[in-house]
Amino acid sequence: LSHNRTLSERDRDAVLHPYTNPIRHQETGPLVISRGEGVRVFDDSGKDYIEGLAGLWCTALGWGEERLVAAASEQMRRLPFYHLFGHKAHDPAIELCERLLALAPVPMSKVFLTGSGSEANDTALKLIRYRANALGQPQKKKVIARDRAYHGVTLATSSLTGLAVNHRSFDLPDPAVLRAACPHHYRNARPGESEEDFSTRLAAELEALILAEGPDTVAAFFAEPVMGAGGVIVPPAGYFAKIQAVLDKYDVLLVADEVICGFGRTGKMFGTETFGLRPDIITVAKGLSSGYLPISAVLLSEKMVAPIVAEAGRIGTLGHGFTYGGHPVSAAVAVETLKIYAERDILAHVGRVGPRLQDGLRGFANHPLVGEVRGVGLIGAVELVADKATKAAFDPARGVGAALVARAQQHGLILRAMGDAVAFAPPLVISEDEIAEMLTRFARALADVTAEVIKI
Ligand code: PMP
Repeated sequence: LSHNRTLSERDRDAVLHPYTNPIRHQETGPLVISRGEGVRVFDDSGKDYIEGLAGLWCTALGWGEERLVAAASEQMRRLPFYHLFGHKAHDPAIELCERLLALAPVPMSKVFLTGSGSEANDTALKLIRYRANALGQPQKKKVIARDRAYHGVTLATSSLTGLAVNHRSFDLPDPAVLRAACPHHYRNARPGESEEDFSTRLAAELEALILAEGPDTVAAFFAEPVMGAGGVIVPPAGYFAKIQAVLDKYDVLLVADEVICGFGRTGKMFGTETFGLRPDIITVAKGLSSGYLPISAVLLSEKMVAPIVAEAGRIGTLGHGFTYGGHPVSAAVAVETLKIYAERDILAHVGRVGPRLQDGLRGFANHPLVGEVRGVGLIGAVELVADKATKAAFDPARGVGAALVARAQQHGLILRAMGDAVAFAPPLVISEDEIAEMLTRFARALADVTAEVIKI
């Protein structure tokens, strides 16, 4: 796939690109995105693409939302920067935290503002540790995360992330992070095992893990309601109820990473509601500001807050915080984003158009290369397989998922491959017509790749 750049321009690409093969990149150069409008982005030659992944799951409201531009520029004039350290606050941060507490799907008492999803989860990890010390339980600090989880890429959160690419050559993961199975029914269930039985087994395995480690050493379990970067894994029936029962039994905190699911993606305001979690901590980012400016947040239950406040009061200060945490311009944009979600009833919209996406994706289920189609609300995935009957995956070296994404790009659709699962998470404001167009472009890409695969 070659983009619209001259060789000399490509040579001058000064960016070290994340999640990109730097050697292949030299051959193709970057796809340079110049502007966006609604659910579409345009490259520097003017070609349009439907953004099938909301620009890394961020841009819920699409591009060109003038109210967010206005909120940013007003705040930029009034108070472009201030921090929250040492008894200081500003209106956008206070209003944002109040709104988040009002929206929270379970009772929460305070919000800690951060700048990215990784910072939010890193903060959650640190506060869990702080609380354990405050409670005089210094041994109760181990955390559990799942295979194929994605919780960030700081040195600490990379270890929560359960993807080899984030570990290899970084000397990670930290062996102190315990690993639970990925609830991927299609891949990990035993032959004939129902979703309920699979969930029961995973909960039993979690209990065995906690007992083997010693319940007095295990502090928390991290979970995305729907696992995003791991390939859009929707929890099987009964999963979170059974997991929650085990966590409650051994006094293990639940951290719901709502960085992707939060703010309507699964059809409810939070994935926590869709799947019945009872978290003690919720982390949010991305959709919080519709991606227009970086901001994230950690919502904390009273069970977290009370010991932390007591400990910080005793020591004299809470020794944690980022210069840009709760940046006023980002916070003002986030406040406006939350207002727009409410005024336009984004949940009702997802309720209307989500089934169109899910039905459309299910339309590919009988395709010979499609092993599974899965999803909920406005998030979904199509997983390709070499053999539908045996579920045998393609040799990763063939890069079939990447080829499909490349073909989709040629047909004007931006998607993302996680192995051979191709993920869809368009801006939440997408219309039914735009979903239909997106699926048409995907069908063309799938036909191309099918022809290539059969030829080989
Ligand atoms: N948690 C989840 C569920 C995510 O999907 C991501 C980012 N894709 C993160 C955390 C990390 O967010 P960031 O890239 O802003 O650090």
